[in-house]
Amino acid sequence: MTYLSLFSLKRSFNPKQGGRKMKGKITFIIIATLLLSACGGNELLGNSKSALASSQNRYIVTFEAGEPVSQATVKNNGGQVLRELPLVNGLSVLLPQQAAVHRIKALKGIKSVEVDILVHATKPPTGCIPWPECKDDDVTDPTPDPEPDPTQEMPWGVLRIGANLAWQTAKGAGVKVAVLDTGIYAGHPDLIVAGGVNFVSKNPVKPANPNQWSDDNGHGTHVAGIIAALDNTLGVVGVAPEAKLFAVKVLDKNGSGYVSDIISGLEWAMANGMQVVNMSLGTNSDVPSLHMAVDAAANAGLILVAAAGNDGDGNPLTNEVDYPGKYASVIAVGATDSSDVTPYWSSEGSEVELFAPGVAIYSTWNDGSYNTMDGTSMATPHVAGSVALLLSAGISNPRALLMQLAEDLGPLGFDDSYGYGLVNPDGALGL
Ligand code: CA
Ligand code: CA
Repeated sequence: MTYLSLFSLKRSFNPKQGGRKMKGKITFIIIATLLLSACGGNELLGNSKSALASSQNRYIVTFEAGEPVSQATVKNNGGQVLRELPLVNGLSVLLPQQAAVHRIKALKGIKSVEVDILVHATKPPTGCIPWPECKDDDVTDPTPDPEPDPTQEMPWGVLRIGANLAWQTAKGAGVKVAVLDTGIYAGHPDLIVAGGVNFVSKNPVKPANPNQWSDDNGHGTHVAGIIAALDNTLGVVGVAPEAKLFAVKVLDKNGSGYVSDIISGLEWAMANGMQVVNMSLGTNSDVPSLHMAVDAAANAGLILVAAAGNDGDGNPLTNEVDYPGKYASVIAVGATDSSDVTPYWSSEGSEVELFAPGVAIYSTWNDGSYNTMDGTSMATPHVAGSVALLLSAGISNPRALLMQLAEDLGPLGFDDSYGYGLVNPDGALGL
């Protein structure tokens, strides 16, 4: 089985210096695979048949290029259309029986019938091998770090990549960044959320409420703060503090979601003028419709950034890079610590383009407080924020510049352990 995961883990201690207490115990987010029936979308088409309401029956049906998308194809085979997926010329559907899958696959004009993978969050990088077999249902430590600092601190990752130096030139002003994640808590005093959308529904035969994009997990709010926490007198500051954050909720409170919801999230991003897409999630499965969707978004000019994954084994000869980061149209990001060392759990492979801080990252949390997390989930928004900095400086090819002007790590030049190196936005801006 394959899953999409959030690539992070939460720690219950505060790493800051200066006498803040450490609780001592490290608690990781470990969330089970839940066969929750959740589907996204603003439109629900077809009959409501609760008997079909099982996530195990969810599929993505795609039609050949140029072929019209036919809902009747699904309905005539006893299925139910959840919503259209124009980005892949297809449909998100429920199909009651395997026989219907085979029948539809055999029809003229059908390109594919894929299982709509159930996605979930996530495993810890340590202490749980092999994943996902070792998942459990300990939901996240409910106790976030205590009150924020009375004054703003600069997280080590923001300093390490030189974002604060880049601010002489650009702070991300006006650049629209879509965070495809568990939502964002808009009430956080250190964040401004410009808008959002929700594709996650608790009931698969009912449409999702598009306005319910607040974060019921915490992961999305943490990622958002790394990108664009405000430069004020409070808490932390993000890489691109003047970028415009948009919450695209494609993962539920357990960090679970469907590939079809991510496809719809990408479609929303394109339709709403997003310039950067942060995906701190992934799967070890190559899903053709997801591939098609990220390619379409990239071809439309969006810069897509995704986590490499936390499945690394410390052996550069084995490739664990997850999708969609593994696709060429997406920037895959690995993690480094404050000594520029890549933790063994950061997935390795030649597709990992850039590295960024992903260990002991302090950022905003969905209760208005702050939290510390590890993972390539945390590295990814350092790159998305860097892209926003470059775009706000008027640079038209941020991906190429970030590759060319990365801070080389490990062997000279590109290598499978460190890609092009550490993301370096001030260097890319010529500073
Ligand atoms: Ca702040
Ligand atoms: Ca490896």
